Amino acid sequence: MSDDLQTQLNNTIRTVSDWPEPGVQFRDITPILQNPAVFKAVIDHFCQRYSELKPDVLVCIDARGFLFASPVAYALGLPLVPIRKKGKLPYHTVSTDYSLEYGTGTIELHQDAIEQGQSVVLVDDLIATGGTLLASAKLVRELGGRVIEAAAIVDLPDLGGSQKLIDDNVKPYALTTYQGV
Ligand code: AMP
Repeated sequence: MSDDLQTQLNNTIRTVSDWPEPGVQFRDITPILQNPAVFKAVIDHFCQRYSELKPDVLVCIDARGFLFASPVAYALGLPLVPIRKKGKLPYHTVSTDYSLEYGTGTIELHQDAIEQGQSVVLVDDLIATGGTLLASAKLVRELGGRVIEAAAIVDLPDLGGSQKLIDDNVKPYALTTYQGV
């Protein structure tokens, strides 16, 4: 990771205290999207990385993961698969419950979205407790996919998610980290 990109990101991401509930420091990535130079730097960085790693599929997590994975899939000519919150995908799905820093839920993946043995990079905006990405990895594996990396803009290592991913054989890859919550 270039210090340059990390500095740009830290100067751009907005922290909103006590949202969506008291005690959470919400790292808001929307200012990245509003800044074309920073957004381009992020997408170019991921394009460089995944043109080398060559996953078969990018799997993006509802909803902010969609924003970052889509341009990378387009640029690299890779299949793009969404994991969505319950009730949004129209066809047959596999599903699992999960918990995240400030809640619980159920996520779903179309049953025919991943082929046996395909290598997958998961893409979300942020790793907190890791619940969302661990649940996503479980669904991909249920369909026979191999999760080779979980990419995010931000890692909050003190919440333990990236370590849990490592323990589950999923390599976390984040462009910047914030200490504390
Ligand atoms: P977790 O499952 O606990 O790793 O939480 C990750 C998911 O919840 C990601 O999809 C994030 O968009 C969101 N999230 C959790 N905590 C935060 C936070 N402090 N700031 C921004 N997004 C968060």
